[in-house]
Amino acid sequence: METRRKPDWLKIKVPIGTNYRHVKGVVRDHHLHTICTSGQCPNMGECWGAGTATFMILGEICTRSCKFCATKTGRPKPLDPNEPANVARSVQLMNLKHAVITSVDRDDLPDGGAAHWVETINKIKEVNPDTTMEVLIPDFDGKPELVKQIIDAKPDIISHNLETIERLTPQVRSKAEYNISLKVIKTISESGTVSKSGLMLGLGETLDEIYKTMDDLVANGCEILTMGQYLQPTKIHLPVEEYVHPDKFRSLKEEGLRRGFRIVESGPLVRSSYHAERHIRPRVN
Ligand code: SF4
Ligand code: SF4
Repeated sequence: METRRKPDWLKIKVPIGTNYRHVKGVVRDHHLHTICTSGQCPNMGECWGAGTATFMILGEICTRSCKFCATKTGRPKPLDPNEPANVARSVQLMNLKHAVITSVDRDDLPDGGAAHWVETINKIKEVNPDTTMEVLIPDFDGKPELVKQIIDAKPDIISHNLETIERLTPQVRSKAEYNISLKVIKTISESGTVSKSGLMLGLGETLDEIYKTMDDLVANGCEILTMGQYLQPTKIHLPVEEYVHPDKFRSLKEEGLRRGFRIVESGPLVRSSYHAERHIRPRVN
C-alpha cells in the first residue's frame, strides 16, 4: 500500500523538444522496447532530448522477483537470436549518442546470458561506431568469469546496482546478495573499466547506512554513484517509507563526492541511466 502522498518535487516533467519527438516517433514506428517507455520514466524528455535511451535485453521476463521492480517475472522464453542486431539497428535509428543497455536476470541459462550480452555489445559497436555505451548488468550469480566476458567486450561503462543498503537487501532484492554485488563492482573496477552503481532511497535506510554503503562502494573501486527516490510501481510492491527531500539528496551528493566518488547524481528523479552520457571518460585511441 502507498503510505504517503507524493510531494510536489516528484511531479513528472512534460517531455518536449525536437530530438524527443524524433526518438518517440522511431520507437513508435519500429515497435522498439525501451525501459524509458515501459518504466514510464519521468526523465524521457531530458534523456531522449540529450540523445540517450535505455534498452532491455535477454527478453522481458525475469527469473527473479525483486520487491521494488515492475518487470514481469516467471519462466522466460528462449533468447531471441535477432535481438543483438535489432537493438543495434534501433540505436542507429534513434540516432543515439549514448546507448544504455540493461537486462533481466536469466538464472535459467548456464552463462546467465553473458554470451548474448557480448554479442549485443559487439553488434551495437559494429553498427554504431561513434555511439558510446553503458551496460547495466546483473550479478551473474557472482561468477567473475562471466562478468569478465562483459568487460572484455569493452563497453565504456559497466554498472551494477546495489539498489539498497546491506540490511534491507534481503527484503528488497530477490536472490541477490550485497557482498556479491560488491564483488561484481570490484571485478569491473580492477579491470580499469569505469564502474558505476545505483541506490534507491526512501526504503527505510538511515543516513549512517547510506554512508557505509558509499564507503563500501568506494573501497571496491566504484567511480560513479546514482541515488534517486524509490517509487512504488504497484500496490503489491514495497511501500515508500520516506519521500526524501531534494535538500537531502543535494547534501548526499556532496557527501558522496567527499567520500571518493568521481561523479554522483543524486535527486528525487535520478535513475541509474540519468545523465548517463556525461559519465564516460574520454576515449584514448
Ligand atoms: Fe530512459 Fe534512463 Fe533516461 Fe529514464 S533515466 S528516460 S530510463 S535513459
Ligand atoms: Fe527487476 Fe532486475 Fe530484480 Fe529482475 S533482477 S526483478 S529485472 S530488478
